[in-house]
Amino acid sequence: MNIEGSERLKRLPPYLFKEIDRQKEEVRAKGVDIIDLGVGDPDLPTPPHIIEALKQAAADPANHRYPSYSGMGDFNAAVSRWYKHRFNVDLDAGSEVVTLIGSKEGIAHIPLAYINPGDIALVPSPAYPVYSIGTLFAGGEPCFMDLLKENEFLPDLEAISPEVAKKAKIMFINYPNNPTAAVATSEFFESVVAFARENNVIVCHDAAYSEMAYDGFRPMSFLEVPGAKSVGIEFHSLSKTFSMTGWRIGFAVGCKDVIRGLGQVKSNIDSGAFQAVQIAGIAALEGDQQCVEDMQRTYAERRDILVDGLRSQGFFAEKPHATFYVWMDVPKGYTSAGFSSRLLTEAGIVTTPGNGFGAAGEGYVRMALTVNSERIREAVERIGRLAV
Ligand SMILES: *Cc1c(COP(=O)(O)O)cnc(C)c1O
Repeated sequence: MNIEGSERLKRLPPYLFKEIDRQKEEVRAKGVDIIDLGVGDPDLPTPPHIIEALKQAAADPANHRYPSYSGMGDFNAAVSRWYKHRFNVDLDAGSEVVTLIGSKEGIAHIPLAYINPGDIALVPSPAYPVYSIGTLFAGGEPCFMDLLKENEFLPDLEAISPEVAKKAKIMFINYPNNPTAAVATSEFFESVVAFARENNVIVCHDAAYSEMAYDGFRPMSFLEVPGAKSVGIEFHSLSKTFSMTGWRIGFAVGCKDVIRGLGQVKSNIDSGAFQAVQIAGIAALEGDQQCVEDMQRTYAERRDILVDGLRSQGFFAEKPHATFYVWMDVPKGYTSAGFSSRLLTEAGIVTTPGNGFGAAGEGYVRMALTVNSERIREAVERIGRLAV
């Protein structure tokens, strides 16, 4: 038998973390005590009241059956109330909200609703890989918008050629941003709405980190900008806000036509999120938000230890206002992969080379604040002992 992968699978870009994965195994095999700042997965547990809500809901046979495709009415209503309360944005729970099995699921599926073979999706570089891979799976062509330090890691919309803009069906954006930790201004979001209107492009804003912000900073929703709801949707996740990455629950909100399109794809692929998880999600959105403040305080403390520590040793990293990533400049004379490899093999620290998120990420490594303060202090000390 000759088993051959589809052209779709063959279009996947080369996996750039293969070399670092191999080195990680090699270092681990030597018995080195590895500090893993590689993966963007919270180490904090899900708050107890959310777990309790799941336990109760899981025991109720009413939740053992197929859920509704678009999400439980109660969950979508809780999302709508949360949006009003958090962003002062009005959403109709019946037509402007869809529940997702994690936001990655919705992001991966949205191109299937709008991208025809050869159509363009505008995708940031560096970025969360799912934007370009979802586009490729739908037969589309990702067209990259570089996020550069001199533009505060916002895409330069004027640099997009008119031909590309005309062929583009979707634009993905993501603020607070993974991996650069940059945040957006309302002026930027306004320019995105104007661009979308002029070029008939659907905006997909990934707001997974909207609640992971520090020093009193409150990231805004794209939908707060006038006209945004008629040009696009926003993806959210409970994964980072409530340390629920394993639970698989998120949602998309905004333009009702686009929400309907996404729902149509989903209703033919999945059968919705487990109702008990949606009920736990309601407990998360409507319960005491002290757990969110605690999460913010924890990451802010780790961020200060890491960034202040790196700077005191002559390295440079911006102190992020949001996300749990530090986007560090690699020292002169290194590539992202070279520096990341040196940190791993000589200091036992796993980081992610910036170019793994796209060509424009070259020159940086990403560090995730997903180990405790003591381990971060240890990481800083080890980095200090490297002669670079
Ligand atoms: C973590 C993350 C998500 C969340 O994914 P889920 O599927 O909801 O767990 C979405 N977008 C970005 C950029 C992320 O880093």
